[in-house]
Amino acid sequence: MEFLRPASWQEALAAKAEHPAAVPIAGGTDVMVEINFDHRRPAYLMDLNRVTELQEWEIGADTVRLGASVPYTKIMEHLRTELPGLALASHTVASPQIRNRGGVGGNLGTASPAGDAHPALLAGGGQVEAASVRGTRMIPLDDFYLGVKRNALEPDELIRAVHLRKASGPQQFSKVGTRNAMVIAVCAFGIALHPDTRTVRTGIGSAAPTPIRARTAEEFLTAALDEAGLWDSRGPVPPSVAGQFADLVAGAANPIDDVRGTASYRRHALGVMARRTLGWTWQEYRDAN
Ligand SMILES: Cc1cc2nc3c(=O)[nH]c(=O)nc-3n(C[C@H](O)[C@H](O)[C@H](O)COP(=O)(O)OP(=O)(O)OC[C@H]3O[C@@H](n4cnc5c(N)ncnc54)[C@H](O)[C@@H]3O)c2cc1C
Repeated sequence: MEFLRPASWQEALAAKAEHPAAVPIAGGTDVMVEINFDHRRPAYLMDLNRVTELQEWEIGADTVRLGASVPYTKIMEHLRTELPGLALASHTVASPQIRNRGGVGGNLGTASPAGDAHPALLAGGGQVEAASVRGTRMIPLDDFYLGVKRNALEPDELIRAVHLRKASGPQQFSKVGTRNAMVIAVCAFGIALHPDTRTVRTGIGSAAPTPIRARTAEEFLTAALDEAGLWDSRGPVPPSVAGQFADLVAGAANPIDDVRGTASYRRHALGVMARRTLGWTWQEYRDAN
């Protein structure tokens, strides 16, 4: 196995162009597991850790540009206000050691339906900045996940950053696992209220071949809040509306039975998480008045 160690972003792109099959390694918390278990033996491994700009972030007027290798710990410590859903999701990843190494770029690179960042990213909204020697392109998160552990990157591309909308309202993330830490999600759910556009967005993890949004549920809730004038009045969400939202979220999932849980349990749990997280976020929105 050849080990490539680019010292700059340009060197990294050149190396990826020369060796498109090279496997990038950032925190290594997915890659090293695969290599150690001999699930993968790449001819080239490309260490991105000398490209320090990947570990930086910038807070702009409307968005946060999050470098691909910013570890979860930094997101929890520094971006709780701007990206509350992602910060909550980061808390549930593995253990402190893994959170000090792993980051969103690696979660996106692996593109597992169980990755914890995905529901929060989908609910918050944003784009992946993908680059190669051919140039840079922005891939909307909605178009990034193509299949189980398959993403929209071309072989010569690397993730440079993720551009995420700064929160304009409350966000929540909820995960069901067999215990409280060091656990792959049985299923997970993210919700973001966007009072600036009077919309609601969601993300579902571990309950379909890819992370997905519950679009029908989003459209239903957005319309229901609007019709009842609840964004202005900040009145309570009627239980019937919350119940229908939960049912639509459960119905959006396309889960399987596996060792972690059954499809019907996953659907049930998603409905519960949807109702609860809607309750928490809406209460926070009301209290902020
Ligand atoms: C014990 C343990 C527990 C875990 N628990 C969780 C958990 O609870 N929740 C969860 O979501 N994950 C969990 N994981 C998985 C892992 O920690 C996450 O997926 C993490 O986000 C990976 O980030 P990384 O930087 O370590 O990625 P790496 O392992 O370095 O890379 C992962 C993939 O992304 C690619 N990649 C990395 N950076 C780039 C880039 N800039 N451009 C293009 N491709 C890139 C790599 O080639 C590889 O395919 C766990 C892992 C372990 C070992």
